[in-house]
Amino acid sequence: MSEGSGDVPIIETRDITRYFSVGHGSAGRGRTVLKAVDGVSLAIRRGETLALVGETGSGKTTFGRLLLGLYKPTGGDALYRGSSMLAARGETAQAVRRQIQGVFQDPYSSLNPTMTVGQSLAEVLKVHKIAGRRDRSQAVAELLTTVGLSPAQAARRPQAFSGGERQRIGIARALAARPEVVIADEPLSALDVSIQAQVLNLLIALQERRGLTYLFVTHDLDVARHISQRTAVMYLGRVVEYAPTGDLFAEPLHPYTQALIAAAPRLSTKRKAVKPALGGDIPNAIERPPGCHFHPRCPLAMPVCAEREPELLPVGDGRSVACHLHDPGVMAAA
Ligand code: SF4
Repeated sequence: MSEGSGDVPIIETRDITRYFSVGHGSAGRGRTVLKAVDGVSLAIRRGETLALVGETGSGKTTFGRLLLGLYKPTGGDALYRGSSMLAARGETAQAVRRQIQGVFQDPYSSLNPTMTVGQSLAEVLKVHKIAGRRDRSQAVAELLTTVGLSPAQAARRPQAFSGGERQRIGIARALAARPEVVIADEPLSALDVSIQAQVLNLLIALQERRGLTYLFVTHDLDVARHISQRTAVMYLGRVVEYAPTGDLFAEPLHPYTQALIAAAPRLSTKRKAVKPALGGDIPNAIERPPGCHFHPRCPLAMPVCAEREPELLPVGDGRSVACHLHDPGVMAAA
């Protein structure tokens, strides 16, 4: 997957955290802190798609926003091509930011309804100094063609487009900056099932043509399996499993991943609302259970699970899992 860049991942996070202060506790109890992302270390290789999956509230969207610079980390670091993005300043910081663009669930929110689509795209080209004034119309026409729209549609405003077309415009907007990395955050969730496959195939084709790297944030395991080479599973702010996608779906190791996969609809069937075969709901991220945060819902929980938090440990074949069942040290003492 790497291309002339050795083994340096294009994106890497090291123990990155993002906490939110969500008010104050009762008198004397201080601030209430939501640990949305809590010590995540992940690497994304150039040209690959890493899927980030988990239920609502797992922290996957916050993680994507950290990489986009929409949130500042509370701790840890994020690296682009081996250099800290947080330490970058001035033009270097701007250049790095241009290389990482987002495609979101609701493309409408990032499009100015008072501007034509052509004006919105030209604005991005101008901000990033991609094309001079005279070349912008041509560049806009090429962007629209690239995402399967017609150059004539540049004169229309976002509200004149269908949901699928708007998402194509959202993708064109991201591509206008000529990024290397795209953070796609649930880009299919708001679309009709019949349109989802078209947008997914467009994203795959663009990746092949442009050598893009994707972080694909999704709650939909079928989509993750279809698009990614590797998958990370998040639960309450932590990565609990990380593996080549084929291996993860063939033999999930973490009990949470096993339950998610057991609950996922088959690729060949029509999608239904996912109802995880898990005991109870995802706990409140503000008051995470002690020890393994998954233990109240885990069918395989042992006494140690309520006391000690498992570490994300390598288990061979490029896989890592955070579960005491896969920690020889803990199992030997049990
Ligand atoms: Fe279940 Fe214990 Fe593993 Fe957590 S550490 S997933 S509670 S077996």
